[in-house]
Amino acid sequence: MINIFQPSLGDAELAAVAEVFRSNWLGRGARTQEFETRFANHLGVGGEHVTSANSCTEATFLAVELAGVGPGDEVVLPAVSFVGAANAVASAGARPVFCDVDPRTLNVRVTDLEKALTPRTKAVLLLHYGGYPGEVEQIAEVCEDRGVLLIEDAACAVASSVDGRACGTFGDMGVWSFDHGKVVVTVDGGMFYAKDPDMVAAAAKRLYFGLEQFSGFSQAQRTDARWWDFEVSSFSRRSITNDVLAAIGCVQMDRLPGFLRRRQEIVTRYHKDLADLPGVLLPPPLPPGHVSSNYLYWLQIDGGIRDVVAKDLYENGIYTTFRYPLLHRVAAYGAGDVRLPNAERAAEMTLCLPLHQALTDEDVDHTISVLHDAVTSRLAGARKAQS
Ligand SMILES: *Cc1c(COP(=O)(O)O)cnc(C)c1O
Repeated sequence: MINIFQPSLGDAELAAVAEVFRSNWLGRGARTQEFETRFANHLGVGGEHVTSANSCTEATFLAVELAGVGPGDEVVLPAVSFVGAANAVASAGARPVFCDVDPRTLNVRVTDLEKALTPRTKAVLLLHYGGYPGEVEQIAEVCEDRGVLLIEDAACAVASSVDGRACGTFGDMGVWSFDHGKVVVTVDGGMFYAKDPDMVAAAAKRLYFGLEQFSGFSQAQRTDARWWDFEVSSFSRRSITNDVLAAIGCVQMDRLPGFLRRRQEIVTRYHKDLADLPGVLLPPPLPPGHVSSNYLYWLQIDGGIRDVVAKDLYENGIYTTFRYPLLHRVAAYGAGDVRLPNAERAAEMTLCLPLHQALTDEDVDHTISVLHDAVTSRLAGARKAQS
């Protein structure tokens, strides 16, 4: 089966893990710090702006908490977004307000956002669909003008940028994922960014029981007489990562430029070889200055044949899917019967193709060829049924 997502973990990651085993320090320590520093450098921000977490979902819950979101507040997010994002809002006792998206990029536009903002809007939780930055600069301005906090879910956008500025750093807070299906993989893990370093310090505290200081669990020598004491002034959970996973992350950061090059090659092939396929729309070109991490490659297939095309691909050993199922249709979020026509149409037409750096040229050839046959024959079938 050709996977849609796939991690690239090998001997270099194993060697880094072995080194951590031999060091006898598996918990949060030097490697975690190194990974955080490297990630901050990659974003182009100082180390005081980031802290790692055990998942992106945890970092999202944390961002919503630190935004001071609570009962009576609204948080706007796209209908095409990750379930964890809506859960973070709902579990804070606030109301998730779902907005529509661009029909082609599946990203929120300023016009979509403005329809959803109310005086109760406390924050916007923006997704960079598939790695496309979208109108993030303009959205950041709107949020600032309205006094609304902007949190960027940059799980798809680990190396996305606009004019050299990293996605995830346009707003007040940003979060990234390193789970097993993302571009950079630590098996499980996340990163939290805040514009305000005090917020990062508050985040780090909340990620470790709410303790006032952390030196007790680093290898640093404590010089106080009673180094075993700790100071509790707030109550929180334990959501840190560790040196085993961070060591994997450091190797993945070394390999990231290679991953991105290979992903771009595959996207270029898809663009070139699918451009003339009737009934299929490809992701629109990126505006000048925009860089995508190429996390997803999505087609939009006309004529109600998306699902049967996906089945044909599956039967030929190619796994595809749609990301992300509509959240306003999840009854538990209480959106009622709000209509978001672009998102709804996109959810019926959009199919994400295999995209990861381990795809071989043969995998890509096979996918393109099966897709050509499936779309052509299913479209002909649909037309015949109609006439
Ligand atoms: C994967 C993903 C997440 C969650 O990341 P975890 O690290 O698995 O918690 C959040 N948002 C988006 C858009 C994702 O794709």
